[in-house]
Amino acid sequence: MEFTATELWSRVLSAVRPGMPEQSFKTWLSATKAVALTDSALQVEAPSQFHAEWIEDKYLPLLDGILHSVVGRPIRIEVLEGSDAGPVPMIPVVEAAPPPQPEPRPPEPTRTATPTPRVSRPQLNERYTFDRWVVGGNNQLASAACNAVAEQPARMYNPLFLYGGVGLGKTHLMHAIGNRILEDASTAKVLYITTEQFVNDLVTSIRDGKTREFRQRYREVDLLLVDDVHFMKEKEGTQEEFFHTFNALYDARKQIVLTSDRPPKEIKGLEARLVSRFEWGLVVDIKPPDWETRVAILRKKAEDDGLTLDPAVIDFIARSCTASVRELEGAVIKLLAYSSLTNQDITEPLARTALSGMIRTDDREEMSPTAALTPLRIREVVAQAWEVKSDALASKRRTKDLTVPRQVAMFLIKEFLDTPLVAIGEVFGGRDHSTVIHSIRKVEDTMAEDPGFAARVEQLRSSLNGTDGGLR
Ligand code: ADP
Ligand code: MG
Repeated sequence: MEFTATELWSRVLSAVRPGMPEQSFKTWLSATKAVALTDSALQVEAPSQFHAEWIEDKYLPLLDGILHSVVGRPIRIEVLEGSDAGPVPMIPVVEAAPPPQPEPRPPEPTRTATPTPRVSRPQLNERYTFDRWVVGGNNQLASAACNAVAEQPARMYNPLFLYGGVGLGKTHLMHAIGNRILEDASTAKVLYITTEQFVNDLVTSIRDGKTREFRQRYREVDLLLVDDVHFMKEKEGTQEEFFHTFNALYDARKQIVLTSDRPPKEIKGLEARLVSRFEWGLVVDIKPPDWETRVAILRKKAEDDGLTLDPAVIDFIARSCTASVRELEGAVIKLLAYSSLTNQDITEPLARTALSGMIRTDDREEMSPTAALTPLRIREVVAQAWEVKSDALASKRRTKDLTVPRQVAMFLIKEFLDTPLVAIGEVFGGRDHSTVIHSIRKVEDTMAEDPGFAARVEQLRSSLNGTDGGLR
């Protein structure tokens, strides 16, 4: 089928839309447009540099994968900063705190965008709440600390410093604190800002001669959430300014929460006085989720989004995506998109097909031991079972303690991998193919005669199949 750039892009967008939060779609993707299509790339314009980077960072693998399914071959998506991609503001903006009201009122169900002329603030995501958070072994302490801070800001841990790899939930937890505090006290002044925004805001205020207003804005809040502070490294002016902001808020007993990809001490190019302040309260890490937590998160996401996912599908995704929660979510979105594009129900085989490009080889072993089997791996497993060195099986020595496992390994390599005889010979020190044939026959014959030997080979077989869990 022939598509124009616009048609193609619109198909991709309709495919991703059902699988992602509507707010994210509107914020990041709705104002994009396709501008050119070549054999190898689809060029798309986003309304700002910030949008372009965000899309590249967060959605590109997903979009690429969907585009691939639509056209049936890999095509790159290039996201550019457009000149006139749409009437969207530079960056989505919200006032975290509603203006003071004469009467207390319930918190607003949606924190609507109220553009402010100077500061552009990423919004508090209302999906990032404690209700939607799964506590697991990987984040137990961080979860407890965030709860404590949300219950009693500036009492227990100030600042609270969360660190961990990408996609492990730091931003979610931070927003959850903000959302909870706004629920409890809708007039609280909560400011969530990414370090990138802080830097931009500072630069703009210096350029416009508005540093006094800048300082005031940051120093009048009750809760300051600063995301990804590792981006402050080597930015001396920003660090200087942030140092004063920090002190002012701290002295006024206002809560500060910071996140980073590493602990304060390890942020190279961060001034010692900031490192020490960041360590004043509690520094706590979030680790990658274990299998149980991954399953729990997938179940919860499915439940929250009203989706029914088969346990086999959940198990498959949880085994395949091990690095981060974002990766798990990406897999679900991709699977939904794939199922709606191809009009098929979500089953485990469909998940295998849809996600094949996402699964890294080093995860395959966990998912299916046979997928990672190689001749060398089989040689190793057999050597282990006979308690000899794997290398010794490739040696010229022909003592019985080596010839038997050598023959068994050859036999199993043929059976599992159907490797050509000559190649099998290579794995055992360059033995020729007639030796390999002889070895395989020998194993077959011995198995027929000797039940003890047969049982031993059988045991190895099931271990290589992963049926006894031996290789997991
Ligand atoms: P980070 O800021 O560490 O890069 P995010 O906070 O952006 O990570 O999290 C990535 C995604 O994973 C978010 O959609 C978030 O909701 C989700 N997530 C991470 N950990 C959990 C968890 N324990 N429970 C529920 N959702 C989680
Ligand atoms: Mg984050």
